This record gives sequence, C-alpha cells and structure tokens, in this order.
Amino acid sequence: MAAASPEVVRDGLVVDIAYVLRDEKGAELDRSDADDPLAYLHGAENIVPGLEKALTGHKVGDAFEVRVAPEDGYGAHDGKQPRPVPRSVFPPKMRLEPEMQFELEADDGDVMPVWVKRVDSENVWCDTNHPLAGVTLVFNVEIVGLRPATEDELEHGHPHGPHGHHH
Ligand code: ZN
Repeated sequence: MAAASPEVVRDGLVVDIAYVLRDEKGAELDRSDADDPLAYLHGAENIVPGLEKALTGHKVGDAFEVRVAPEDGYGAHDGKQPRPVPRSVFPPKMRLEPEMQFELEADDGDVMPVWVKRVDSENVWCDTNHPLAGVTLVFNVEIVGLRPATEDELEHGHPHGPHGHHH
C-alpha cells in the first residue's frame, strides 16, 4: 500500500505553488501560473523566508495573500549605490548584461553577491543590494501540489522534475 499523501505543508515536502508577486503599489514583479507552477522544497530556503513561513501548515487548494516585509524577503536596502567595476576584471568572453548575478571578491578577500545594474563600454555597474531589497513583497499564492521529497532532493536541498531544478 502506498503511503498516504501529505496533507499540509511542512519541512521535507516538495510544494508546487502558483503565484503572482507584486510590490505595494500593485506593479507585477513576477508570476508562475497554475499550469506551470514553481516547485520548491519546504524548509530548505528555496524561497524567501516570509513566504515559506506563511505557507507552513496550509493544504492543496489554499489560496491567500501574503505580505512579506523586506527583512523577511530580499533584505533591507543598505543605501549603497551601484559601483563601477572595470570590464577588464572579467574574462573577455564573458557575456555581461543587466540582472546577472555573480560573486565578487573584494580586495580584502571577502566574497559578496552582486547584481549587474547596467553595462557600458568601460564598466560593469554592480549593486550589492538584491534588485528587490527594501521592497515589501505582496504574493497572491495558491498551493497546487504537495508530495514527499525524494532522498536525492533532500540531499540536494531542492526539487527535481519538470518544475524543479535541472542539472
Ligand atoms: Zn539536485
């Protein structure tokens, strides 16, 4: 006999969600529709903490709005503006375009994630703030699927399969 399907969202389950993400003014930032949901592994920090927490304990079919403060989303904005990094620092063949994310090693050896804001002929303007830092996130989310994670998924910390992570 097959194990019973999990009933509510908890750690170790793969959750499929459909969602629309807007900012506080109602501008759409991102979405994933029910016919092409996002799969994530609950409890593995695949999604922002505020949304993960709000989904805990809900069941398939539940649909609701979640407001996530920056601290539980992509962090507060530290006020720092993008800095120019000379193109010569990057491998010559590397494609550089806005919204790319990579890690930059500072002179003191610290490694930090940066996001490309814009690129000109001499510089790549790098922002240490996530593009959604400082933004209150308003999710309209619906849980469309729930299943136990496989051993591999638990080990990798993310779901596999059609809506999950591809290697
Ligand atoms: Zn994997």
